Amino acid sequence: MSEPIQPPARAWLRSFNRTQAILLGFVLVLTGAMLWISAVILTDRALDRLRDRAEVRSTLYANSIESVLTTYTVASALLAQDRLLPNLLAGGADEQAQLTLGGLQSSIGAPSISLYTATGTLIADTQPEGQEVAHALAPYFQLALEQDISIFATVAVSETEQRFFFARRVQQSGTILGVVILEVDLASIQRQWVATPDEVFVTNADDLILLSSQPDWRYRSLTPFLDPLAVQLGARFTLLPMLSLEPTQAGPRVAINEQAFLRIDRAIDFRNWTVTYLAPEEEALANVSAVLAIEVMALSLLLAGGLFVISRRTARKSLQIQRESEELRALNARLSSEIEERMRVEQSLQAAEESLEQSSKLAALGQMSAAISHELNQPLAAMKTYLAGAQLLMQRNRPTEALTSFQRIDDLITRMGTITRQLKSFARKGGEGASRFDIRSSITNALAIMAPQLGQTRVEIRRREPDEPVMVRADAMRIEQVFINLLRNALDATRATPEPWIEVEVFTGPQLVRVQFHDNGPGFEGPAGALFEPFFTTKAPGEGVGLGLAISSGIVRDMGGSLTARNATAGGAVFEISLPHADVADLGESDNE
Ligand code: ADP
Repeated sequence: MSEPIQPPARAWLRSFNRTQAILLGFVLVLTGAMLWISAVILTDRALDRLRDRAEVRSTLYANSIESVLTTYTVASALLAQDRLLPNLLAGGADEQAQLTLGGLQSSIGAPSISLYTATGTLIADTQPEGQEVAHALAPYFQLALEQDISIFATVAVSETEQRFFFARRVQQSGTILGVVILEVDLASIQRQWVATPDEVFVTNADDLILLSSQPDWRYRSLTPFLDPLAVQLGARFTLLPMLSLEPTQAGPRVAINEQAFLRIDRAIDFRNWTVTYLAPEEEALANVSAVLAIEVMALSLLLAGGLFVISRRTARKSLQIQRESEELRALNARLSSEIEERMRVEQSLQAAEESLEQSSKLAALGQMSAAISHELNQPLAAMKTYLAGAQLLMQRNRPTEALTSFQRIDDLITRMGTITRQLKSFARKGGEGASRFDIRSSITNALAIMAPQLGQTRVEIRRREPDEPVMVRADAMRIEQVFINLLRNALDATRATPEPWIEVEVFTGPQLVRVQFHDNGPGFEGPAGALFEPFFTTKAPGEGVGLGLAISSGIVRDMGGSLTARNATAGGAVFEISLPHADVADLGESDNE
């Protein structure tokens, strides 16, 4: 509801960019200018053509009327000299006179001829019955008697019809006998004009319209000055409301009843008469309008075509952008779903790892429990046997032999104590803490603890160390545990070696003290790092749980040292413990304080 409604035109305009809008405006202005120029040129041309045609037509009209008037002027002069007329005038009015005049009329081809005596008596008259004009009392009759020329006369017979006559006196040997009146056939010319679509009229010297293609223009005046003769004719004169317009190159223009005409005036050689031809502009300009309409249509089509192309291009571009952005969106969606997928996989991997670790730990725990119970069950079973034996010996009263059994049981108890002590030593967090001691004594202690096991094999122990004490600062008890573990591993490794030996060597440098345990066993396979992983073991169940090296390396690291493993080039494995020299360690500690 609150959304403002956009006019479609504005929305349409907004689909153009700035350059296109400027271009569109420019094209519109150019189109307007082109239309205006072509309208001016076409109008000028049309009016020029109209004038050319009008000039030809007006000349034709002028010539036709001029020739009729000239013919009748000459005819009236010749008729007045006809030898028959004095005889007719002398003979008086009779049938013969009428016949003779009728013959003359038909040979001239005039509408009528009337013959009067000088006193105004009608001798003969060929005017149609009922339409006779009485000439005897008219002013031109008198004028004709007075002058030896053809007197032209216009007689209005009705408000819209007039007749034209030439009056000429008939004389013989200087005596005026009468007047002959020849009717001029202008009516037929006028009738022809009415039939044409042209507007044409003839004015006399007083600007009174005598003949016109428009019946209601007759007897109208072009100027307010009225012809006295016309007044006498009794017609009702009014001005023809002809408005002068701004002239064009083609000539003067007038407006009648709001219709514009090109006006061509032609003076004819008869009593200052003028033929005026009016060429209607409307018709000529209708062509201009038609051409302009076609031009507008063509330009509109062109413009529409241009706009169509532009809008199609814009639409295509926006479609492309839309498609690209859709592709981008799809890509984004794919990427984020891939990321999600990866995160899910990572999570499940981590979960799998955790559960694997958990299950391997559990498995190791199982193995360790099996090993421990195996280690302890054996002496327990033996103890049970010895105890039963001792009981039997006591019953049989053989106490000396029974004592031997008890001694065996005691040995077994001692062995079991050793086992549990060793296990405990692994689990123990540490001894009394760091102290300064000679590392050589730790090796001696470790070898002493391991003596029973070492004694059971043929292994040769080789010691190489400085003669002076090699001091370190560490937890002596735990360092011994590490040494014991390394010795036990070496012992295990050399079990199948024909002439087994274990070399324990101490190196001392300015910063570090290193203790190497080198054996001539088979060495280890795979990367050294794997050995230090908890629960990594290659030994059979019951023999190892894979915690020894992991715990040992943790202990050494706790003391600021490191434990590394490598295979010696000559064969066998080398385990090396590096510890800071006691002086360096002391310095570090005092620094810390
Ligand atoms: P365990 O002795 O219970 O297997 P350790 O962590 O002490 O556990 O040892 C891990 C593994 O390292 C052994 O199973 C063995 O494969 C390898 N290893 C340790 N010491 C030696 C050695 N001296 N020579 C060859 N392999 C050794």
